[in-house]
Amino acid sequence: MSRHDFSLPVKRELAMRAAYFCSNPRCLRLTAGPRSDAERGLGTGHAAHICAAAPAGPRYDPTQSEAERRSGTNGLWLCRECGDMVDKDSSGFTVEQLRAWKYGHEAMIAEVRQQGWSNSIELLRSGRMTPGVAKEIIALIEDRRSFWARFDAEFPDRVRMSLDGLRHDLTRLRRDCAAGSPLDAVIVALTQTIRHFFNEVEQINLTTLRCDGCDPEWLAFEAALRILRKSIGYQVAALADSYSIPLQGEFSAYFRGGQAQIGP
Ligand SMILES: [Zn+2]
Repeated sequence: MSRHDFSLPVKRELAMRAAYFCSNPRCLRLTAGPRSDAERGLGTGHAAHICAAAPAGPRYDPTQSEAERRSGTNGLWLCRECGDMVDKDSSGFTVEQLRAWKYGHEAMIAEVRQQGWSNSIELLRSGRMTPGVAKEIIALIEDRRSFWARFDAEFPDRVRMSLDGLRHDLTRLRRDCAAGSPLDAVIVALTQTIRHFFNEVEQINLTTLRCDGCDPEWLAFEAALRILRKSIGYQVAALADSYSIPLQGEFSAYFRGGQAQIGP
């Protein structure tokens, strides 16, 4: 059986609907531009099949007619690299996921067009990247479970290391946010909360500090950690809420009902 490839007009329509940007929300590479030859343009994009063009291909759907398989509704516009990934790795991507990329991208392009093209790339980047970044911020904090364990089960030095790592990871994520965007502000606020904690415990030797209700240094550390947990808890709960991201496991129990439950 022959491949049911897209015709040139279908490919052109797919490219135009995507405004020549790769539809993978984590990529967004621009797939058209000038050639060194002053009169010619260079296209580096790829019209990928959502359900494969031939039976051996990924996500092949035998119930599709030839016309459905060749139609623009069965395609999405990607850069070469993402196109290879999607066409060659059958286990990696589902039909639903690729449709979500396509519809999400086309909706974004329609929105950007309404707002004019002047800031379009910046808008694209901030709009498309942020749901992913919001999830990553929440996952980072969820991953540090020991950080949310009971105070007396912790070695203060491990808390310090965990927070140092978190601060470092947040700084890295900031590079994916447009400066001054809402998520940029969220990351700055979280980083300031952590800095505030470090200022509070600056005078305490965390390496030797152990749980001791009679030790003023322990009590100061515990008080600073309570404030930190409460503050980060509210910030993460608000972030998860505004992006409709469900909180996981222990973490969700901790912030049940959007209220941070603090300590023992
Ligand atoms: Zn791409």
